[in-house]
Amino acid sequence: MAERFDVVVIGAGPGGFRAARRCAQRGASVAMIEKEHVGGTCLNVGCIPSKTLLASAHLLLRARRAGEMGIDIPSATPNWAKIQQRREAILTGIRKGMLGTVKAHKITHIEGCATVAAPGRIRVESSSGTRELEAGKLILATGSESIQLRNIPFDGQVVISSKEALSLPQIPPSMLIVGGGVIGCEMACAYAAFGTKVTIVEALERLLPMEDAWISRLLEREFKNQGIEAITSRKVMSVDKSTTPAKVSLDNGQIIAAEKVLVAVGRRPATDSQIVQALHLEMNGPAIKVNRKMETSVPGVYAIGDAVGTTNLAHGATAEGEIAAANAAGGNEEMLDYALIPRVVFTFPEVASVGQSEEKCQAQGRDITIGKGFYRGNGRCLAENDTGGQFHAVRDNAMNEIVGISMVGDLATEFIAFARTLLGTVEPIRQITFPHPTVSETLEDAMHEALGELLFEQ
Ligand SMILES: Cc1cc2nc3c(=O)[nH]c(=O)nc-3n(C[C@H](O)[C@H](O)[C@H](O)COP(=O)(O)OP(=O)(O)OC[C@H]3O[C@@H](n4cnc5c(N)ncnc54)[C@H](O)[C@@H]3O)c2cc1C
Repeated sequence: MAERFDVVVIGAGPGGFRAARRCAQRGASVAMIEKEHVGGTCLNVGCIPSKTLLASAHLLLRARRAGEMGIDIPSATPNWAKIQQRREAILTGIRKGMLGTVKAHKITHIEGCATVAAPGRIRVESSSGTRELEAGKLILATGSESIQLRNIPFDGQVVISSKEALSLPQIPPSMLIVGGGVIGCEMACAYAAFGTKVTIVEALERLLPMEDAWISRLLEREFKNQGIEAITSRKVMSVDKSTTPAKVSLDNGQIIAAEKVLVAVGRRPATDSQIVQALHLEMNGPAIKVNRKMETSVPGVYAIGDAVGTTNLAHGATAEGEIAAANAAGGNEEMLDYALIPRVVFTFPEVASVGQSEEKCQAQGRDITIGKGFYRGNGRCLAENDTGGQFHAVRDNAMNEIVGISMVGDLATEFIAFARTLLGTVEPIRQITFPHPTVSETLEDAMHEALGELLFEQ
């Protein structure tokens, strides 16, 4: 006999986990089904393991430059086994915490692979057998997978995805990264710091092509200092694996030797065709089509996160999870403007932005003023020996509103949520006292220049 739940959530990544918890907090009986580990891509092979590696890499870079601050560190070298053990320990600890939350909220966590017979009927197969569930509402949070290139398919050894790149057995002497987007750039920083000779090949004309050009320029300059070679406007045609290192051919005939070829050209929604067909879901390309309530074309069935292909960010998935959960539990809520979800890249230096980009405003013919703040003129940044950052604020002059903020610099990913609160009407900004000396004064400089009230000549 089928077990009955108010809401069944398929997928326990950040989106599914948040949705399940919120539904339970609203009094619904909830089952959350996961075929691998709780935490999904984000915890197990995404955000957290990549940031763990990047944190070790960042410390290494700081240690190597410690002499500039009067501290002699005779040798700073990575201990790969310890770095990997630490990564694993952090993941295990967070998984444990999440399972504790699941229990505390009386969510029924079911391990196994879910298939759907009809909107309210779900079957879960696992090594311990089959369970039949009945659901009042269904939330699909099935995530995404790395896009594979037809001419260089993944083999898990030489041609790898970000998943393998996070837990390689050794630090490779060389790595060619196909794709200069978020994941490619983050991996480049980590491995270059660990001593790998890193080359990025990007088909478009600049790294991080979704951000403003000034950000790409600044990042490319910083990457050069880190020994990362960025080849733009070029495509990888083939990989000859008959030799070690492999030979990677580009579309201009150039051949680059690389021990590992990391393909990081984006992620595709992991929408299970069985589920799509059983529910007759309307699709938007490979993504599940949803409305602003995160409801699919089938009433009572919601979809969120990477499966709907909107932000491809963990906090985008949780924001959508909140909306789907509210609606599945009887509410009536809609997603806000996607531009208000901060975009973050944990490179050295970090990149973060929220709201409208300068280039988008210019393309729309809007009358804008751009205010800038520089780490190089900031007392705290000088004291910290960290002078490469820059913050930009964009004011729409006709509306007299700050419509976008972009940042490159250490801690940028920490500032961006606060920066989000500065979007909109300009008056409250004048009320804020920024503590001195702090990196946040860079934001103050940018905001004041955008408002036409330059604090210092730059
Ligand atoms: C290397 C890397 C670094 C990243 N870094 C960041 C970052 O710093 N910040 C950020 O915001 N985002 C980052 N991301 C993106 C982030 O991981 C994803 O946007 C986020 O995980 C999406 O969450 P989700 O809940 O939609 O799906 P997922 O986290 O992918 O979870 C989906 C879950 O559903 C399960 N599932 C699928 N089908 C079924 C089924 N039929 N039955 C049962 N279970 C099923 C899967 O096993 C999976 O666990 C990164 C991604 C990668 C790859």
